[in-house]
Amino acid sequence: METSKQDKKVIIIGGGPAGLTAAYELNKHGIRSEVFEKDDIVGGISRTVNYKGYRFDIGGHRFFTKVKVVQDMWDEVLENEFLLRDRLSRIYYKRKFFSYPFEVKNAVFGLGIFNSMTIVLSYLKAQIFPIKPENTFEHWITNRFGYRLYKIFFKTYTEKVWGIPCSQISSEWAAQRIRGLSLFSALKNALLKQPAANKDVIKTLINSFHYPKLGPGMMWEKVRELVEQGLSTVHINSGVDKIYWEDGKIVSIFSGNKQSVQGTDFISSMPIRELIAKLDPAVPKEIIEASKKLNYRDFITVALIIDKKDIFKDNWIYIHDPAVNVGRIQNFKNWSPFMVPDPKKTCLGLEYFCFEDDNFWSMSDEKLIELAKEELQVLGFATKSQIIDGTVVRMPKAYPVYDDEYKAALNTVKGFLANISNLQLVGRNGMHKYNNQDHSMLTSILAVRNILGANYELWNVNADQDYHEEIKDRELVSSELSQISYTQPMTPGEFPMHKSKDSLIDKAIIRAFSRLDKFAFATAVGIASFLFVFSATLFLVIKGSPEIVNSMLLLNNYFIGYDISIKGAFIGGGYSLLWGFIFGWLFAYIRNLSLGFVIYREKRKLQAQSLKDLLDYL
Ligand SMILES: Cc1cc2nc3c(=O)[nH]c(=O)nc-3n(C[C@H](O)[C@H](O)[C@H](O)COP(=O)(O)OP(=O)(O)OC[C@H]3O[C@@H](n4cnc5c(N)ncnc54)[C@H](O)[C@@H]3O)c2cc1C
Repeated sequence: METSKQDKKVIIIGGGPAGLTAAYELNKHGIRSEVFEKDDIVGGISRTVNYKGYRFDIGGHRFFTKVKVVQDMWDEVLENEFLLRDRLSRIYYKRKFFSYPFEVKNAVFGLGIFNSMTIVLSYLKAQIFPIKPENTFEHWITNRFGYRLYKIFFKTYTEKVWGIPCSQISSEWAAQRIRGLSLFSALKNALLKQPAANKDVIKTLINSFHYPKLGPGMMWEKVRELVEQGLSTVHINSGVDKIYWEDGKIVSIFSGNKQSVQGTDFISSMPIRELIAKLDPAVPKEIIEASKKLNYRDFITVALIIDKKDIFKDNWIYIHDPAVNVGRIQNFKNWSPFMVPDPKKTCLGLEYFCFEDDNFWSMSDEKLIELAKEELQVLGFATKSQIIDGTVVRMPKAYPVYDDEYKAALNTVKGFLANISNLQLVGRNGMHKYNNQDHSMLTSILAVRNILGANYELWNVNADQDYHEEIKDRELVSSELSQISYTQPMTPGEFPMHKSKDSLIDKAIIRAFSRLDKFAFATAVGIASFLFVFSATLFLVIKGSPEIVNSMLLLNNYFIGYDISIKGAFIGGGYSLLWGFIFGWLFAYIRNLSLGFVIYREKRKLQAQSLKDLLDYL
């Protein structure tokens, strides 16, 4: 029997963007919900920490989305508290800044004559003798940039982020990271020149982003406030410890504050591995084993307050120097001037990537702050005496890891959970997916619609790259914008964009860019020429005026034996068939050749562009 809206109560696990968006949507539809959040603050990874009035994020959080429902919710919640900020994020190496997106020219000039020469030589070597087979991330980048550039600009940072030597990361992973390449979009954009206004929008989106005045946490604290004014209760400090299920349904949850709460529907944004461990009665052993194969990379931010007005003008910088452990440094007042209480001071977030069971994670706060101070001094940004205060935030499970085992393990767990009919998984760790805020929010919006009777496949959000490509193409976005939109959600069925108009254009372009079959085209031209000359001659035999007959007889210079007679019609037709075939064949050949050239050029341009943006995906 269907439960009416009034009788429904949805239990939401996690008070991050996904969990709170679910509560927000349910509230709009008049459905009660209870959110259980294990920390003492909402926002999850998208929280903003407030330390003595200095605000900082867990990694900077840009707000960018192509999905209207998500953008609408952001605008509705924060109204005019959103800032549009310019993006600047360079690479810092050997006390020098290098542009990012990556520019070979800039790198070569910045590194001096000797280094530049070795870079050029190693690049040439890679072009002439590429590594084969191309098995690892190291091979993949070396083949495209040369070993020297790989070593300076990719190796150290990638290894800091993932904690795995590049020689052990598969080349497939690198290729996946930059699958934003869409040759089709590039060709289309080259053909259908973007109107100026459209170009401006694209440029703006690449170089700027939206950001709440007081950081992303401002968004999620406001959502909490709004849902609590409605039909939702948000329990903080309330980790879910047990999830009771029977007969293919979740019945209730048990939270740390000793309450058992029943619900009709359940939405979980907690890490899948933990969800499985908390199901009671315990699930089959092979499911538990599979869930243990889902791994995470953890993250520490050491925020340092420095008695210095200006340090660097970037929002964040990538630290490629192997001499220090820090991977990235955020300058929060460059995200929003409202993030610091005193404009004469600066708050930097030094980001360390680690595993929950390594030495870094278990180091005391004091030691971490000391290390961060030391490294900031080594990098030349501040002396230790200028650093007046600091604090540490540890964020477990910041990145779901895509290793060799995760896909099969995830499929096993997904298969099992699909049998629990009133449970939906949403968000980033909730689905073990590299989801951004907007992907995470979209999964929750769709989950609520499912509770209302729709039938969305949440796993399709941010999943199928080819489908995603199609959507981008429909939007007439430039290849540059595609690089950003690669990290953005796909929008299942309900939110298609410009579908009919673009699919017509797409079809026309596909037709225009298809290779011509030389034989078929030549035969067609030959037959058309035959028919034309044959019927024109016959017509003149029956009813020809002397002037036209004389002009037509000029053909006689080329078609030996041709005259205005029935026999001549066959002779002229025969010659036309032959010459038509030859011309048709040559035309198709030249056209295919030039088409190949255009496609090759666009592909190279696109590859260069996407390689420039690679760090954003690492
Ligand atoms: C360094 C970094 C930079 C990022 N930058 C961006 C960016 O620029 N733009 C962007 O859009 N996105 C960015 N993201 C991604 C963004 O942070 C996530 O997409 C988003 O926070 C996911 O929301 P979520 O609710 O699914 O998960 P989370 O934010 O992880 O929230 C899940 C919540 O569940 C709670 N929880 C866990 N277990 C339990 C339990 N047992 N009981 C109760 N509660 C529990 C957690 O405490 C947490 O609050 C970034 C992520 C990282 C790591």
